[in-house]
Amino acid sequence: MVRVCIVGAGVAGCTAASALHHALGSSGALELVVLEASARVGGRVKHAGAGLRCGGELGATWVHGKRGNPIYPIVHAATNGSTLQQQSWQMPVAIYHGRRVDPQFVAHVLEDVEAIIDRAVSKGAGIQGVRSVGEFLDAEWKAQGQRDDHEGEHESSETSHVLKDCIYQRRKRLECSISACDSLNDLRLDQYREYDRLDDNHSRNSAPMETFLHGMLAPLLPETVRLETRVTQVQRCGAESQDGAPLLVKAWDARAGASVSYLADFCIFTASLGVMKAEGERIFEPPLPPKKLQAIRRLGFGTVDKVLIEFEHESDPVKGELPQSAFLLGTPASAEEGHAPDTDKYAWLFDYAPLVYMDRPASGFLRGEMWLSGTTAREMEAKDDEHVFRAVQAYLHALAPLAYPKVRSIARSRWFSDPNFGGSYSYNAIESDGSDFETLAEPLPCLPPHDVNRPCILFAGEATHRSFYSTMHGAFASGEREAKRLLGLLARTADVAN
Ligand SMILES: Cc1cc2nc3c(=O)[nH]c(=O)nc-3n(C[C@H](O)[C@H](O)[C@H](O)COP(=O)(O)OP(=O)(O)OC[C@H]3O[C@@H](n4cnc5c(N)ncnc54)[C@H](O)[C@@H]3O)c2cc1C
Repeated sequence: MVRVCIVGAGVAGCTAASALHHALGSSGALELVVLEASARVGGRVKHAGAGLRCGGELGATWVHGKRGNPIYPIVHAATNGSTLQQQSWQMPVAIYHGRRVDPQFVAHVLEDVEAIIDRAVSKGAGIQGVRSVGEFLDAEWKAQGQRDDHEGEHESSETSHVLKDCIYQRRKRLECSISACDSLNDLRLDQYREYDRLDDNHSRNSAPMETFLHGMLAPLLPETVRLETRVTQVQRCGAESQDGAPLLVKAWDARAGASVSYLADFCIFTASLGVMKAEGERIFEPPLPPKKLQAIRRLGFGTVDKVLIEFEHESDPVKGELPQSAFLLGTPASAEEGHAPDTDKYAWLFDYAPLVYMDRPASGFLRGEMWLSGTTAREMEAKDDEHVFRAVQAYLHALAPLAYPKVRSIARSRWFSDPNFGGSYSYNAIESDGSDFETLAEPLPCLPPHDVNRPCILFAGEATHRSFYSTMHGAFASGEREAKRLLGLLARTADVAN
């Protein structure tokens, strides 16, 4: 009998559990338990829930890539193959002082910024002396400005200059929310987007994304997954070990209001890098090796939050055409006239000026979505629901002449303040190195008198995958990797025994 304790029921934990059950479940040789701190399965894959009639994802939304993406076929199959839809992007509408900015002008400026970002991705490694993505983009943008001749059809050259810069700043902010960093100056240039981009097929699921995880766990016994059971210590045991187990996993069972412990031969630890940063030094006994602690410290783990918006009169046709996405440049016209103190009251949102992305999902209800990152996201998390609701309403109002319907309710994520996550996803920070992701994945061996050549604590999760970090497929691949590692170790032990 092999006793396996998986910490965390996010994508990595569910994948590892499913793979182990598939390989060993019918043999009767597997005693598997998955300990999950929160009251649900899914981790950073999280549907907004029934409260929001338009639905929507508060965590992962897109399956990035079809070819070579291990989760594409699973999500596709779990939702009967009918709900994954490829996303097509339209140019956002920019609103400046109560009017639409010339779309051609916006398109030109965004194309220029996109070209600079592409150069950062492809040439970053070859540029001496420039360490961060932010530095590179700013230098290129400045050089571009000196030879640039795009001007908006109805803009003075002075306004064109201001608008260009506003658009550039907004696009940088969007890049921060893609990479989950506070500033692009925190992002390492020579390993920028080191993760493999698969193909350009980005699909959204109209069924809740977490459906595929429930599908994975369905064959397991219901008592395998223990919800609201937060692991407080993973202890490698020496001579004092009970029942021959090299590991003792201690947890707090919030439902029972009691401490519980599990003896294990293996532990697959999948809690986020945010949890590792906050608790990594005290969860493991003996402590993690200095190299792993250094990797945990150096890698970046940023905050990206979503605000999902449900509108009143959802089924009515919207007055006027609402664009797929829109954002505000500069101060709203009404604030200039002194009529709208909202810009001060909600400065955290107006200063950030996020894209408002509109969608009409299968539910038929119109849905809006905003992404916030870095300090703005953390500030939003600290505000109460009523304040955020009013801020969103004021921001949509400021996008006039676009006529958004009245907001009925919102749902928002709080990835940073949730102690089970401590943020949203990982990135290659200025002081880190791609190899830090691999260091995070290195297993820890048993203590004597157990076989010191045999690993007993294995690590999975998006931040342990060097080329797919920050994604669901990275988390999935890491869960598979560690299940395979464990099965390989068991096979080797069986060979030795024979
Ligand atoms: C806003 C946002 C948008 C995203 N968008 C996309 C996207 O579009 N496409 C994409 O591919 N990816 C996206 N991602 C990233 C993707 O969601 C993650 O990479 C992936 O879900 C991580 O899975 P995981 O299993 O590694 O970690 P997690 O999902 O964090 O799972 C770890 C689990 O461990 C639990 N846990 C933590 N501490 C303990 C403890 N002490 N004891 C027991 N349990 C514990 C947690 O509750 C959690 O359930 C997004 C993430 C966010 C936050």
